[in-house]
Amino acid sequence: MNTPENLKYIHSQLPETVKLVAVSKTKSIHEIMEAYQAGQRLFGENKVQELTAKWQELPKDIEWHFIGHLQSNKVKQIVPFISLIHGVDSFKLLSAINREAEKFNRIVPILLEFRVADEESKFGLSIQDAEELLSGPDIAAMNNISIRGVMGMATFTNDAKKIESDFKELHTIFCVLRDKYFINKDQFCEISMGMSDDYQIAISEGSTIVRIGSKIFGTRINV
Ligand SMILES: *Cc1c(COP(=O)(O)O)cnc(C)c1O
Repeated sequence: MNTPENLKYIHSQLPETVKLVAVSKTKSIHEIMEAYQAGQRLFGENKVQELTAKWQELPKDIEWHFIGHLQSNKVKQIVPFISLIHGVDSFKLLSAINREAEKFNRIVPILLEFRVADEESKFGLSIQDAEELLSGPDIAAMNNISIRGVMGMATFTNDAKKIESDFKELHTIFCVLRDKYFINKDQFCEISMGMSDDYQIAISEGSTIVRIGSKIFGTRINV
């Protein structure tokens, strides 16, 4: 795999407004540094331990996004340095992030994760869950989180029409929530969708952040 070439190609396909998270899970410090030297500064990881180890070792101007399923008891390890937590799908997790962020005197940006794929096992909120969460009294008191938008994954399929409709659904959820709960709040502006095999579709459906691993670093052996 030629990481600098891959990055160049992907960037050439992305509109300037779309951010590229280079998903570096399972990849070595050396492999990440290759991307860094090619100019990439935004990386994504899905395991707390792996992320914190890499954060400690790598240059401090890297912006780290957490893209995995985060357990409440591990929040404190990433809160000091994380730029965006993508997969927030419960009140419990939101309040844990808020609590830890307060200790570090930070406002931590997060995305709400939605279940738009057909697979049962995927994490994520339904629109009803989100409305319940956003209209409750507790959320207004959470001063140390900033809800920046939504995140989701399409069904694992070759059917481009199905993937398109999953992404359309996520975009609709974004618009509904924005118009109802984030009027005049410009920070609610991100739609994180699109991976190596479906990022072109995601971009046509309004993605603002794509999360790409294997098309940059090569296929992963595990996970
Ligand atoms: C691994 C992962 C990606 C990147 O997957 P690729 O298919 O390698 O691009 C994107 N998003 C999430 C949530 C992931 O876990």
